[in-house]
Amino acid sequence: MADNGFTTTVLHSDRRSSVEHGAIHKPLHPSCEYAFNDARELAAVFQGKSGFTYARQGTPTTQALENKITQMEGGTNTVSFSTGMAALTAIFFTLLKKGDHLISSHYIFGNTNSLLATLMDLGVEVTFVDATNVEEVKAALRPNTRMVFTESIANPGTQVADMRAIGQWCLENGLVYVLDNTLTTPWLCQGKAMGAALVMNSLSKYIGGHGHALGGAVTDTGLYDWSQYPNINDAYRKGASSSWGLTQIKKKGLRDMGATLSSDSAHRLAIGAETLSLRMAKACDNALALARAFAEHKRVERVHYPGMPSHPQHQRSMEFFGGRFGAIMSVELAADIDVFDFLNKLRVFVLATHLGDTRTLVLPVAHTIYYEMGAQRRAEMGIADNMLRISVGIEDTPDLINDFFQALDDC
Ligand SMILES: *Cc1c(COP(=O)(O)O)cnc(C)c1O
Repeated sequence: MADNGFTTTVLHSDRRSSVEHGAIHKPLHPSCEYAFNDARELAAVFQGKSGFTYARQGTPTTQALENKITQMEGGTNTVSFSTGMAALTAIFFTLLKKGDHLISSHYIFGNTNSLLATLMDLGVEVTFVDATNVEEVKAALRPNTRMVFTESIANPGTQVADMRAIGQWCLENGLVYVLDNTLTTPWLCQGKAMGAALVMNSLSKYIGGHGHALGGAVTDTGLYDWSQYPNINDAYRKGASSSWGLTQIKKKGLRDMGATLSSDSAHRLAIGAETLSLRMAKACDNALALARAFAEHKRVERVHYPGMPSHPQHQRSMEFFGGRFGAIMSVELAADIDVFDFLNKLRVFVLATHLGDTRTLVLPVAHTIYYEMGAQRRAEMGIADNMLRISVGIEDTPDLINDFFQALDDC
């Protein structure tokens, strides 16, 4: 399978592994517990041999999805969770200790920002930097720095982190680079190519892709040598050191914290993953067409989209993402437009949070997902009051452009 392309690999991975009765999908396993005929075998699985015991630690269905994600990312192994936030929680709370230091991008998902505040309350030091410039990341280094966290494309401002330089610097300095690849997905950007040690994908977004199942995944790219990481528990310093980090995330994060992906959700997400490349290509093409059209309209003040030559990281995006730029953009409307009146006139765009659905979704960000953090932090993050986030879907392009323009013309 290694020689096949991205989509062929995803489509055929279940069938090529041992699937009961030749089924082309991995069956949906609802069992909570897994029984053994041999007591020695039972003990062996508890002692680390691969197998299933209790579904909180995974089922054959979640494992089949994990294998797909591993192949997509070109990594060594993946652990799945009930949501993307659960996956991030597992990474931060199992690999960092009180007194450790984390360098994080300023430009991150609002709930991740809130999660890092909890981590700070528990005694982990966090410095926020402008991660579009590796020099800012380097300048934040302390003797107790353990980890660097960025997203690939940030939401809603679409800043693109200086990923490749950050990844290389982290590997040279024994730091764990955690990349949230949700907005790009491994189809546009493999975390491994950027030098990330761990890649988090929210499966609820493009990979599942239809807004009908939540999930998250952490993939180890195999680049990081976990024998140099000080916080690995003695119990997990066994076997090849390349697996220690993910073992700790699985044991202390998935098993002990318990935010497990259900077999039912894993099955739905795996079906979505089959068409990721087709959906992403169409959504990215739609997004570029919309960004170009919006930029021409005199009542749209600003368009933030990496596909526009005016975007500060346009060149970098061309280099990293192979000529497509994701399907998230934000626009700032003319100051005299009431954003709520404008939104109420839209007929095709769906007024909803979430992103990565097949349908185009729109949200006034300062009033919703960034409301809780207050005006000052919003200003630091570049979130304007009249900013709309648009998650572009796969509808017919003219329908989206016409809908947006009819609402603007009516305001
Ligand atoms: C949605 C999202 C998450 C969280 O994922 P959930 O599956 O909703 O928990 C994390 N990071 C980014 C960039 C996201 O867009």
